Amino acid sequence: MIFDYKTKYDADTSGHFGQFGGRFAPEMLIPALEELEKAYIKAKKDTDFEREFLSLCRNYAGRPTPLTYANNLTKQLGGAKIYLKNEGLNLSGAHKITHCLGQAILARRMGKKRIIAETGAGQHGVAAATVAAKFGFECVVYMGEVDVARQRPNVFWMEQLGAEIIPVKFGSKTLKDAVNAALKDWITNVRNTHYLLGSTVGPHPFPSINRDFQQIVGLEVKEQVKEMEGKLPDYLIACVGGGSNAMGLFYRFLEDEEVILIGVEAGGKGVERIGKHAARFRGGEVGVVEGYKSLFLQDNYGNIEKTHSVSAGLDYPGVGPQLAYLGQVGRVQFEYATDREVIGAYKLLAKTEGIICALESAYAVAYAIKLAPKLSKEKIIVVNLSGRGDKDIFIVAEAVKDKNWREFLKTKLT
Ligand SMILES: *Cc1c(COP(=O)(O)O)cnc(C)c1O
Repeated sequence: MIFDYKTKYDADTSGHFGQFGGRFAPEMLIPALEELEKAYIKAKKDTDFEREFLSLCRNYAGRPTPLTYANNLTKQLGGAKIYLKNEGLNLSGAHKITHCLGQAILARRMGKKRIIAETGAGQHGVAAATVAAKFGFECVVYMGEVDVARQRPNVFWMEQLGAEIIPVKFGSKTLKDAVNAALKDWITNVRNTHYLLGSTVGPHPFPSINRDFQQIVGLEVKEQVKEMEGKLPDYLIACVGGGSNAMGLFYRFLEDEEVILIGVEAGGKGVERIGKHAARFRGGEVGVVEGYKSLFLQDNYGNIEKTHSVSAGLDYPGVGPQLAYLGQVGRVQFEYATDREVIGAYKLLAKTEGIICALESAYAVAYAIKLAPKLSKEKIIVVNLSGRGDKDIFIVAEAVKDKNWREFLKTKLT
């Protein structure tokens, strides 16, 4: 059984990882969270649940994803061996489909007919709309009006998948307002609706549930590295937004204390400048936001700060509570990469390995590029490529100053 795995770094029964986590939700949502927790505890012990989850991962989403030895990149950097876990080959282009599938099975078991989701850049919205189509759920996605305007490609795909997108017109009209709108909907429609949360964040039990679904990534890596190298890797590196791809890679290695775990945050335009990065471990403070206690980038009054990252998926002020805890106890080390380094890493990976990764994933690659040359050739680094890069074509074309791109866009308007 996959889902009965536990570690000494897990939450207590109230959902706390040390001082982090918990369930700070409006009273009207507590029954819904308790219902979800109960359904999950029951499902975990059910072999049919595990069988269905694994079958969908394999026969629908495309698991197991390959672990690829990056021989050219390794040679060029001249140090440790670099392996790439290519989560970009999943259906809908990233690791997110995995926890969406898991939650969809749970929602159906609870008798829900409708799912709602929040999304910022739209990646989670697309994954949620994908599973809703597959399971025959009605799907409503809340998205800030500002994000709807700037993320048209993902909005377009959500619409094609049959989801209804509701632009949120209050507050800053971005992700945090979309979360609030989704919570309000959930309170009103909790009887028939599941809130499909997009990362290892939010009130208990979401951080633990999404981590448990994602643990399949690390489980596969463990087997794949063993087969290819006959031993454990020395370093695991993943980018960190809310933390689902990082927790997925790390979880099965948490108690292999000799394996060094590194989370890479968005350093944006530099971590010294408030509002220009999303490095919670370089300036975040403990706070309670969106139903959980963790590290958040906030001002002296506890208001959430603006964040910036070239990748939309890491442009988030908070971090999952288990990662906050793992950082505090020193089990996971947190580093950051800047926008400039990320574009360089993305280019180098494309040219040396023929893999166009998501900009989020390029943060992990950027740190691996710094680390590998300092290590001896016997060391093994596994980098999580959380997604593929097709979705970033508009951002990357501008970042690399492609001359013909603007011309191309103009021809589309005539
Ligand atoms: C959403 C996203 C992330 C960030 O989310 P986590 O929960 O931190 O994994 C990273 N990479 C890709 C490709 C994403 O779409």
